[in-house]
Amino acid sequence: MNHSLSLSWYSVGLVKLFQNCLNSYFDSNLNLPAVNMKPFTKSHKIGVVGAGTMGRGIAQIAATNGHSVILVDASEEALQNSQAFLNKILRRLAEKGRLKEHQVTEIFNRIHFSQDFHQFADCSMVIEAVIENFSLKREVFQKLESIVTDNTILATNTSSLSVTSIAGVCSKPERILGAHFFNPAPLMPLVEVVPGLATLESSVSSTRRLLDDWSKSTVLAKDTPGFIVNRVARPFYGEALRILEESIADVATIDWAMREIGGFRMGPFELMDFIGNDVNYEVTKSVFEAFYYEPRYRPSFTQKRMVEAGRLGRKTDRGYYDYNPEATPPKPEESRELGEEIFNRILVMLINEAADAVFYQIASREDIDLAMTKGVNYPKGLLQWADEIGLQNVLNRLTKLQNEYGEERYRPSPLIKRLVKQGKRFYT
Ligand code: NAD
Repeated sequence: MNHSLSLSWYSVGLVKLFQNCLNSYFDSNLNLPAVNMKPFTKSHKIGVVGAGTMGRGIAQIAATNGHSVILVDASEEALQNSQAFLNKILRRLAEKGRLKEHQVTEIFNRIHFSQDFHQFADCSMVIEAVIENFSLKREVFQKLESIVTDNTILATNTSSLSVTSIAGVCSKPERILGAHFFNPAPLMPLVEVVPGLATLESSVSSTRRLLDDWSKSTVLAKDTPGFIVNRVARPFYGEALRILEESIADVATIDWAMREIGGFRMGPFELMDFIGNDVNYEVTKSVFEAFYYEPRYRPSFTQKRMVEAGRLGRKTDRGYYDYNPEATPPKPEESRELGEEIFNRILVMLINEAADAVFYQIASREDIDLAMTKGVNYPKGLLQWADEIGLQNVLNRLTKLQNEYGEERYRPSPLIKRLVKQGKRFYT
């Protein structure tokens, strides 16, 4: 048997087979109507629930692409803030020459702000972006179902909750899916599309076509904690924190190594300060708990202490770095040897995570690589990177770490071991 074919069958075929089985099961046994088979056009109205950071961004994208948008929030203040924010953003785009004056008015006029869920009645798709609270999201979906038509697709922008669990309380879970945008939504090209257990293929394909029309890059992810990006990216932060805790290098040196040697746009500590240490800590905790306390994802006390001290990063002017204008930035130890040790250790941990995501059918190889380059701006897809540096090399480094520490955290992915044994790569 050709092993490259066998690998692609593993990564793509099984996902398709699983989905086809599920879909035909639901189509034939439950006799459900196909949902929204017709492609979306600009004449379709789009609904967004939650006018916060993500909701207003998604509303901007839909309106810029010609749709009439209804943006609903429970808070009048949130609606006013998002209205002012969108107005400012669109004007800024005009100043930069990216929009014409008349386009600013047209786009802005396409967005309608309301506190009334009944405004969603004639929407073809509603995207939910309320706060990350499980019972609130379930309540929102039940309310939406009582208002929208049978053919309306309902999407959640959740980062950490299970799509299936949200859909579990709905009467038509086959039209519910995850559409996970990245912040800032209008600028970040990636959207992870996440079918729940009961989602129909037609709901997935209609959503992907719509997002394609909005010039987004979509990847298909299994409904598991962290989907692709928030799962595969964990070692970028976690391993950097371990290196710091072991005093192998300081914050500035680790960041320097990942930027200068690795080619990442930001080092892990700069990035954590940018995201917010509280936000990053919560994501790490939620992935760790959702994976039944898998040791690879264990949060760090160093990060916990930063949160407890209120050193949340840029937003509090203090995180791993001091952002006060008079502060002197720390100097990295620019040793190539040390830098390579740091970079290689973090890189092989990232590759191991990406390999496990293929092994457990979370997504295809191509989608995992696309997700990390488009969702978090990695300089290269991790699986492509693995092929370039050699899988034997990756396996040797992981085995050395595992032997040294004796921790489950460093165990090489069975897929890497299998490919090395067969003399294969991720891509042919
Ligand atoms: P946010 O706090 O900025 O906005 C949430 C909005 O929901 C608020 O305006 C709030 O008033 C509104 N809201 C609360 N209850 C409501 C209700 N019952 N009905 C209508 N509106 C209600 O949050 P956010 O950062 O935009 O995150 C929204 C969702 O997107 C979350 O699920 C989050 O996990 C996910 N997400 C966030 C990011 C990010 O970086 N912020 C990235 C990707 C995904």
